[in-house]
Amino acid sequence: MFCTKCGIQCEEFNDNGILRHRCPSCNYVSYRNPYPCVSLLVVNQRNEIALGKRHPSSIYPGKWCLPCGYIEYGESYVAAGIREAKEEIGIDIEPIGIINVVSNELENNISSLVVVLLAYYKEENPLVPGDDISEAAWFPIDKELPPLAFKADDYIINKYHNSMKEYGEIKSITLEGNSFVS
Ligand SMILES: [Zn+2]
Repeated sequence: MFCTKCGIQCEEFNDNGILRHRCPSCNYVSYRNPYPCVSLLVVNQRNEIALGKRHPSSIYPGKWCLPCGYIEYGESYVAAGIREAKEEIGIDIEPIGIINVVSNELENNISSLVVVLLAYYKEENPLVPGDDISEAAWFPIDKELPPLAFKADDYIINKYHNSMKEYGEIKSITLEGNSFVS
C-alpha cells in the first residue's frame, strides 16, 4: 500500500504481532479497524421479522439476513439504521433500542462491529427490496427461517425469540445520546 499523505510505498512492520504498514518518509502508520455497521431486527404486528435475500453479486449470495449496512462518516448509528431499512427493505422504521452489539469476522476477510437495533413495524406496507437485497419478506419468528448468511443474525433472532417467550420483553439500551456535535 501507499502512504495517503506522501504517495510513496509503505513498509511492512511487525507491531507486537500485528502486521502494519508504515511510511518510510513521514512515519504515517496505517491501522486497520473493524467497520462500524448497524443491523435491524424489525418485528411486525404478526410477530414476523423482516429479512432480505442477498443479491447474487454480494458476499453469501442467495442467503438471507437482517437489514444491515455500514455507518457513513458523520452519520449516527440510529440514522444509519433508518436509512438502511429504507434502502434495503423499503420501509420507514423508528428504532427503539439496542438489543446487542456484535463483532463479525466474515469470509471476505472483513471485520465489522455491528450495533443491533430493534424496531416494531405497525403498518401494513409491503416490503420493497433494494440496494444489495434481491428479495425482502416477513418470516414468522417461531417457524423455521430460510438459510441465514450471518451467524450473528441467527443468534440475535434466537435471543429475541427466547427472551420474548420467557419474559415477554427483551432488555435493550435506549437511543438517547446517539449523536453529538461539538
Ligand atoms: Zn508518508
